[in-house]
Amino acid sequence: MNRRPTLDQWIRNKINGSKPFGLRELAAYQLNMINQTLEHACRNSLHYRTRIGNRQLSSLTQMNELPFTIPGDLQADPYSMLCVHPNEIARIVTLNTSGSTGPSKRVFFTEEDLELCRDFFHYGMQCLVSEADTVGILFPHETPASVGDQLIKGLARFGCAAVPLYSLSLEDIVLKIEKHRITSLAGMPGQVSLLAEKFPQCSSVKTVLLSADFVSDKVRETIAKAWGSEVFEHYGMTEMGLGCGVSCEHQQGYHVREADLYLEIIDPISGQPLPDGEWGEIVFTSLTRVGMPFIRYRTGDISRWKNEQCPCGSTLRLLDYIKDRNVIKRLPLRYEG
Ligand SMILES: [Zn+2]
Repeated sequence: MNRRPTLDQWIRNKINGSKPFGLRELAAYQLNMINQTLEHACRNSLHYRTRIGNRQLSSLTQMNELPFTIPGDLQADPYSMLCVHPNEIARIVTLNTSGSTGPSKRVFFTEEDLELCRDFFHYGMQCLVSEADTVGILFPHETPASVGDQLIKGLARFGCAAVPLYSLSLEDIVLKIEKHRITSLAGMPGQVSLLAEKFPQCSSVKTVLLSADFVSDKVRETIAKAWGSEVFEHYGMTEMGLGCGVSCEHQQGYHVREADLYLEIIDPISGQPLPDGEWGEIVFTSLTRVGMPFIRYRTGDISRWKNEQCPCGSTLRLLDYIKDRNVIKRLPLRYEG
């Protein structure tokens, strides 16, 4: 199936409308937004003011002169990273850090920040579904602005129906798939592949979006073999505002929401930036977040910018599929910003 590279168009519209658009224009936009984020963060947050001071960049190559933000900062004193009055916060997400006895990480969002996520889901989901589809949502949806809720709202914006399936038994999910003629499923890899393995009759499911966990080849094969579905992947984390990138029908890696996030790939040991094509840790900077901006946040996830362009015609770089997660915990050193 040949779908339009709608994410490129969306990013282009966010950056400069109908003017020329390519890597150079994107870099100029990102530098400008990084400087706006630095100004906002250093003026309004104690954490960034203490760590960075009053700093502006003249080139993206100066990014590695800024200190990292690490998950421990979100545990130690998340309020010091807040850039608005607490009354302006619409949602706080508390993340339990697995294997750690320390305090939980807390991430704050204003209504404006939450809208950025819905906007990404609105365009990102069009990589795999259209208004003719009905999407079964296996993620939690009951809390306002939870992943499932944001996804349902993003889909509604282009007239795509969604059916919440969270917390149902596998048997009940199958009944709903049949009843609502569900053509696409969004969920975690383990759950969707188990469903495919046990209920191969759900062949109305033409596309699947997997997110929130590592996707193995076996998972892809199980789903493709059982249902004949096209398997798409989403990569993101709460700190990124839930979403980061989504694969297109060519399944070569992720198209990244580069108008909202600036990604670097660094050597996880030395902390130094790596050239395109080399595997390293993803570090991101938020470009448009208001409540709690992130500057050079270490994700612990391993990927690379691919040297090849995607056959879909996107002019932007492709982020390869995540190869490893939580690398920070296994490294024999302490991270300092
Ligand atoms: Zn593509």
